[in-house]
Amino acid sequence: MPLARRRHARAATVLVLLAACLALPSCQKSPPSRTEFALGTVCTVNLYGKGSVKDYDAAFSRLREIEATMSASLETSDIGRINAAAGKEAVKAKPDTVKVLSFALETARASSGAFDPTVGPVVRLWGIGTDDERVPATAEIENALVLVNHERVALDAVSGLVYLEDAGMRLDLGAIAKGFAADEVAGILRERGISRAIIDLGGNILCMGTKAPGVPWSIGIRNPEISHGEPVLSIQASDCSVVTSGVYERYFEKDGKRYHHIIDPKTGRPSDGEVLSVTIIARESMTADALSTAAFVLGRKRGLALVATYPGAEAIFIDRDKRVFASDGIRKELKLLDPSYTLADWPEPTR
Ligand code: FAD
Ligand code: MG
Repeated sequence: MPLARRRHARAATVLVLLAACLALPSCQKSPPSRTEFALGTVCTVNLYGKGSVKDYDAAFSRLREIEATMSASLETSDIGRINAAAGKEAVKAKPDTVKVLSFALETARASSGAFDPTVGPVVRLWGIGTDDERVPATAEIENALVLVNHERVALDAVSGLVYLEDAGMRLDLGAIAKGFAADEVAGILRERGISRAIIDLGGNILCMGTKAPGVPWSIGIRNPEISHGEPVLSIQASDCSVVTSGVYERYFEKDGKRYHHIIDPKTGRPSDGEVLSVTIIARESMTADALSTAAFVLGRKRGLALVATYPGAEAIFIDRDKRVFASDGIRKELKLLDPSYTLADWPEPTR
């Protein structure tokens, strides 16, 4: 073949290969990670160069599906439809919703109502994180609190029917559904042959596998006093979820006082104890998510007692005095990064 034609042929082959590569995502360079806004927060999946575009697509499409099913602010979601039918009729929910709601109700019972998925009317009243955030009047809080009662949720796990027994009740799965979503993404990645990843749903972390063979991941726990603060400590973790509930995540300030988004269902106000953040380490992210919120409201002693009833779950509490309390199973994996924090004795601190 003459040289000019050979060059043409080679160029054509390159073009064909390029076209094939554009059509086949497996030919594309593997992205290092992907970040998108979902579930009302910034979500990052990092497959450390091992995943394909299709793996990332599968992960984020599952996140969007869960958001469409469980968002409290979408009329068309299961939660939107259940809330709209409160006091009127039962609504058939998807298996995903049934699974999350069942665990939410179980956690509500186990925490004596410190965690309560029916806290929706109070959450809506405060509007924290929305354009309508404000300090409600005491009478408004009292009226909303009448509607907060997890025992007034009728759930038939077999038929999937959910009925809120009083008009005005509102489910809110904001304290648990991100955990479920992280578990689901991990399951999808595992099915696709991926064994090493970090799934970060707005600070709700799930680490799959280890950083390298025999080397655990190092996960930072943020300064609970400031938004986007630096980590004050880190823990070594592998194949588990690390979830933190804290006062810094969503809040507004009025007359010098901070009002954050974790509500004590007994008072209808932001839970106001010594604890500024609670981190739970557990195999399942849904467990870690539910327990972090429950333990935050319960406080250090009662919170730890609850966590101790979940095999394999560990807890780290940070309080207003910059003291870090870590349960036995995680204490040796913990490294203080900020010298102004101290690792306190457990269960009773030495002051
Ligand atoms: P967590 O401690 O895990 O949860 C706190 C949240 O749970 C509160 O914001 C409140 O909603 C609820 N809660 C408060 N007190 C209690 C209690 N005692 N018991 C039980 N629950 C309680 N945010 C948006 O701004 N826009 C959105 O469109 C949006 N969509 C979402 C869709 C889904 C499916 C989910 C799960 C969340 C969505 N969010 C949205 C919420 C947002 O991501 C929240 O900030 C997040 O869920 C709170 O999680 P956290 O880890 O910060 O705190
Ligand atoms: Mg939570």
